[in-house]
Amino acid sequence: MAQTIQAVRGMNDVLPDQASRWEFFEDTVRGWLSQYGYRNIRMPILEKTELFVRSIGEVTDIVEKEMYTFVDQLNGESLTLRPEGTASCVRAVIEHNLLYNGAQRLYYTGPMFRHERPQKGRYRQFHQIGVEALGFPGPDVDVEHMVMGARLWDRLGLDGLQLEINTLGNATSRNRYRTRLIAYLEEHSAALDDDGRRRLHSNPLRVLDSKNPSMRDVIVAAPKLAEDLDDDSHRHFEALQALLKNAGIGFVVNDRLVRGLDYYNDVVYEWTTTRLGAQGTVCAGGRYDGLIEQIGGKPAPACGFAMGVERLLALLDDSSVAVPGRVADAYLVHSGEAASNFAWKVAESLRQRGLAVVLHCGGGSFKSQMKRADASGARYAVIIGDDEAGRQVVSLKPLREAGEQLQVDAEQAAAAILKSNKP
Ligand code: ATP
Ligand code: MG
Repeated sequence: MAQTIQAVRGMNDVLPDQASRWEFFEDTVRGWLSQYGYRNIRMPILEKTELFVRSIGEVTDIVEKEMYTFVDQLNGESLTLRPEGTASCVRAVIEHNLLYNGAQRLYYTGPMFRHERPQKGRYRQFHQIGVEALGFPGPDVDVEHMVMGARLWDRLGLDGLQLEINTLGNATSRNRYRTRLIAYLEEHSAALDDDGRRRLHSNPLRVLDSKNPSMRDVIVAAPKLAEDLDDDSHRHFEALQALLKNAGIGFVVNDRLVRGLDYYNDVVYEWTTTRLGAQGTVCAGGRYDGLIEQIGGKPAPACGFAMGVERLLALLDDSSVAVPGRVADAYLVHSGEAASNFAWKVAESLRQRGLAVVLHCGGGSFKSQMKRADASGARYAVIIGDDEAGRQVVSLKPLREAGEQLQVDAEQAAAAILKSNKP
């Protein structure tokens, strides 16, 4: 036998039993997004490497060590599997001049790729739902995004999610802060790990984003950015909090929250849970007013957030949320040539009336087919033998509840099954 081939480490298959949970999640998310007026945009999974380097920032975890980058053998171009969606979305909006038509509310979904150490809630291919509002100065739209988050958790039946917010100020105030932070970190360089020491001068704010527990104390005692904020940033952050209170959304201000991407300014936030261990951030976002200009567009304010689908599904699993399974309405059992010919027609006519029907394939005795029907989870077996075929009727047998098997006119079978659909 040939040797088997396995999937790439950290890249998971989603098998049919789990996929029904994904579909439930995706259906819920689509309905929710359209209710808030967000429209779908779909970007390629591959982009030129420079797009991510310029937007996410050279001295970040993602760009330094997590990107799947390779040279296109055919033309020598450096390409990267997208590690996140904001950069691609902004690139597409600029390329197609979408802001010409006014501000845009957009969303995308799909796989992202980061070469991280695989563990629970952290994979090399994972999925995000990304939501972006481009051309809006906020803070109203920032709050809209947070309200949207809260509503989605309600819809999914998830509780215990905590909203943490912070402000990073603008470029000028961050530069002032940077100087103070470098001085502090230099004093404590003995307590920093290798990454911390390396980033001390190139990107000191990133040091605060470290997840290394041994650096916790240094990080907690570090000077705070709040003292360097200018009036505009203060006003934005105050107004945001007032709007959040008005909307009834609970939150805490976490002044250590810096986020792992360079493009953010002012508002940043995360939705976190204590139920997923170390990978407790299920959704994160913020404002990125400089990004559009930075990658070649006409300056325009923007903000957005991304949810990690795997982490939210893990939370759904952990909660006792009942996810409706997908089973067929009927499994069609048939034996004999005339019966089989008739069965094809019955199956199609049931489907035309909106029912989900599995037609048994592969022959076999009635008994073995009935076993399949039962195992399929279908609510009814529709049984056709030569006798039924001769009289153009079907036998209908409920599989999920007690009930008589009855013969009905083939035309009436759909109505009978649909009727029983209603509680
Ligand atoms: P973390 O701090 O957990 O590494 P991050 O700040 O790198 O997250 P973002 O770039 O903000 O994450 O991505 C948004 C969301 O995508 C995260 O909150 C998380 O839910 C999810 N996510 C990020 N990286 C992964 C991954 N490797 N595997 C699964 N989900 C992920
Ligand atoms: Mg990360």
